[in-house]
Amino acid sequence: MPGLLEKLREVVLGSRCPDSNGTAPALMITVRCKHCGEEIRTRVEKAHAFQEQYEMVAGEHGEEPEVSGYLLQKEILGAKCQNLISLTMHFDPCTRLLKYEIQGGELVEVSDSD
Ligand SMILES: [Zn+2]
Repeated sequence: MPGLLEKLREVVLGSRCPDSNGTAPALMITVRCKHCGEEIRTRVEKAHAFQEQYEMVAGEHGEEPEVSGYLLQKEILGAKCQNLISLTMHFDPCTRLLKYEIQGGELVEVSDSD
């Protein structure tokens, strides 16, 4: 019979991220420079670049910190000009992109990368 522990693990840990693509170790981000139009591709290691964001939630032992999402801050410089592109991305706990802010350019594409 399926272990109770397994079931509990599922409840506690999820199944929370059913369509998560969080298994890829990196993101490939493409931005376009506002100044010269150059498209710049940059690879970001999730393990290094993602900053964990916490929020306090009521748990068994009172308030406990829980990961509420991830923040990525990246400054990107192209080869053709000196315009610095500043990108901030917000992800949910399943590392799905929620929203982003960008200065000095525009976001073209974000995809998973090995
Ligand atoms: Zn440029």
